[in-house]
Amino acid sequence: MSAKYVDIIIDISHEAIDRVFEYRIPEKLEEHIQIGLKVEVPFGKGNSRRTGYIVGIHYQSKWDADKIKDVHGIITNEVPVEAELIRLAAWMRDTYGSTMYQALQTVMPVKKVIRPVEKKVVILAVTEEEGALRLLEYRRKKNTAKVRLLDALLEHGEIPWNLAKDKLNIGNATFDRMAEEGTIEIRSCLQVRSAISSRRMLTKEPELNEDQQTLVREFEADYQNGDYKTYLLHGVTGSGKTEVYMHAIDTVIHAGRQAIVLIPEIALTFQTVMRFERHFGERVTILNSKMSDGERYDQYRRIQNGEVSIVIGPRSALFAPFMNLGLIIIDEEHENSYKSDNIPKYHARETAIKRAEFTHASVILGSATPSLASYYEAQQGVYRLWELKDRANKQELPKVEIIDLRDELQHGNRSRFSYRLQELIAERLEKKQQIMIFMNRRGYSSFVSCRNCGEVVQCPHCQVSLTYHDHNTASPKLICHYCGYEEPFVKQCRKCGSKLIGKFGSGTQQIEAELQEMYPQARILRMDADTTRQKHGHETILSAFADGKADILVGTQMIVKGHDFPNVTLVGILAADLSLHSQDYMAGERTFDLLTQAAGRAGRGELSGTVVIQTYDPEHPVIQTAAEQDYHCFYDNEIAYRIALKYPPVYHMMVVMVTGEDKTEVEHSIRELVDVCRQLVLSESDRSVHIIGPTAPVIGKIKDMYRRIFYIKTTDIEKMKGIKNQMENYSESMRATDHIRIFYDLNPMNIY
Ligand code: ADP
Ligand code: ZN
Ligand code: ZN
Repeated sequence: MSAKYVDIIIDISHEAIDRVFEYRIPEKLEEHIQIGLKVEVPFGKGNSRRTGYIVGIHYQSKWDADKIKDVHGIITNEVPVEAELIRLAAWMRDTYGSTMYQALQTVMPVKKVIRPVEKKVVILAVTEEEGALRLLEYRRKKNTAKVRLLDALLEHGEIPWNLAKDKLNIGNATFDRMAEEGTIEIRSCLQVRSAISSRRMLTKEPELNEDQQTLVREFEADYQNGDYKTYLLHGVTGSGKTEVYMHAIDTVIHAGRQAIVLIPEIALTFQTVMRFERHFGERVTILNSKMSDGERYDQYRRIQNGEVSIVIGPRSALFAPFMNLGLIIIDEEHENSYKSDNIPKYHARETAIKRAEFTHASVILGSATPSLASYYEAQQGVYRLWELKDRANKQELPKVEIIDLRDELQHGNRSRFSYRLQELIAERLEKKQQIMIFMNRRGYSSFVSCRNCGEVVQCPHCQVSLTYHDHNTASPKLICHYCGYEEPFVKQCRKCGSKLIGKFGSGTQQIEAELQEMYPQARILRMDADTTRQKHGHETILSAFADGKADILVGTQMIVKGHDFPNVTLVGILAADLSLHSQDYMAGERTFDLLTQAAGRAGRGELSGTVVIQTYDPEHPVIQTAAEQDYHCFYDNEIAYRIALKYPPVYHMMVVMVTGEDKTEVEHSIRELVDVCRQLVLSESDRSVHIIGPTAPVIGKIKDMYRRIFYIKTTDIEKMKGIKNQMENYSESMRATDHIRIFYDLNPMNIY
């Protein structure tokens, strides 16, 4: 049976994308029809000719046959970027599960009429000599915000105003005062164009070393031969990956094409942004998640008009509407943030590779701790593996010590800090060097429970325990991190009435308190979900620490990513194994990454560093290999486990979840779906597909919605898509009658 009808969006630049119209395909066009094609159709009462895009194909009409008009013809002389993105959306829908509308919404920029945003730049308005004098003066007065801005200006000459505001955390008052003093000048973009050429960059870019050059030359050769590969660049932190990216981009730009660079927002630091700005000038634009729809759309227009050639941003920057995309780079490719939480739950890596395939572009993935998935592909020869083994500036990697917490207990140490770590902290404080204390705890929360009856206080709407927060006030609260529910903390058990109720688990607050007690003279900063709640909370704390306003920074995973503090010479990792024992298959991978990143924070400047890993499980291979910074050994162990238990990346795993307010209905529906799925597999007597469940996920209820899941595992991705598509068809009818939602998550990256 051949396709007879298509859904069409008319004229994408004016119409909302949810307005689709159905048309019939005339026989002569049947074999040419595909999603993303631009077609001409009769439209409206007068049947005026309009163009549109095919976004769906089907065999049966949803309308009266005599009311449907025919597609007039296919427009073949251009392949607009919309067509490419619609094709990509169709692939995402098919692979990850969603409606076509949800997929289109993900790849298409929001249409908004907006005032173009004025781009401003901060310029050093005095000579370098005068600037250096003023810097000394600011330092003497401990005017740290001014120091930050002037310091950066002396290095870079000029800085985009946005960047100074967001990443250097400079407030309006500081800009105003420095402008009044005549130290800086703020100019709008038009004035800047001429200014840029007249001001040379104040620091030089490094020459590539031999290892970097080898890679860049290989890329060039492949690219010029039209051999568009996916490369996995495995290089320790500081090995010069970013330099390799920039030179690869040069090749692509010279060929008249464009590049997208994905960097997790948290790793998009001031220094990184400036390196790209310095290398590419006006050709580069930065997207971020704080942008309004209007700002984003404005950027998209500049991209479409060809005003920029390089886009840097988080996951969604992948859909930048470049007409002639030549390269996609994904830095820190192992990061969880590359997997979308929204439907379709796409992974940016897989989607980038797909987009590159459509447009004949290359892909470079980079990481110090590659995802198991990518390294596996490289081992299979699907990706080309590149390695950079040394730091570019020949800095030494830090020394790592493992401390067995069981020994500490035996020797009567009841503190959370081992004797060795205490000794090192004291020594660093003495030497006026800085310390980071990292708490490996995903929940980073303390729950409240009764010591008499064991009752744990739970959220009434979610199946999770409430978290204790005291905010240094007299009235502590219990908060749900999933739905925001709050209640006052009452010091009496709701179940048995006992007053022996209190908080458990060790949050960052308690760590901070214990440290302060041990080292009363130390200045301590804490970074966690509480202290960063305000806008720019992260930046405020990090700049304060960088400015030397504290000796110790205590925090969760937030403190281990992306930031360089040259004066940090000691990193303490408490309870390194806590995240190892969570129930998901990625626990080992995540722990290895966290430990490696945390260790990498020590000794980033002139001074060499020490890392202390405290654990109850010192022989655990993940802890061992992380301490030795031995990725290959870690990989070998971990992949063996994935093979044995049929987990990704060896097997593809799909979570099918049903949610709804009525528990019985949810349970009924999930069983019905599993049965359908089993029958699909049985009818093909297919032993290569495994179905597991149904079962309750770790969190069985969120925001009053019950959740039930089952898993499908197979090595054959096409088979997986086929099964999922058939279930989607089946559930169309289910959804009409039941108050439930069904969604799919392919190769999930968090716990269900
Ligand atoms: P990565 O992205 O792998 O963490 P970077 O590209 O950020 O590494 O480089 C780390 C530091 O080393 C940066 O300060 C960079 O300027 C410097 N660097 C990179 N390549 C070289 C080189 N060939 N010679 C000297 N310094 C270099
Ligand atoms: Zn009780
Ligand atoms: Zn809740």
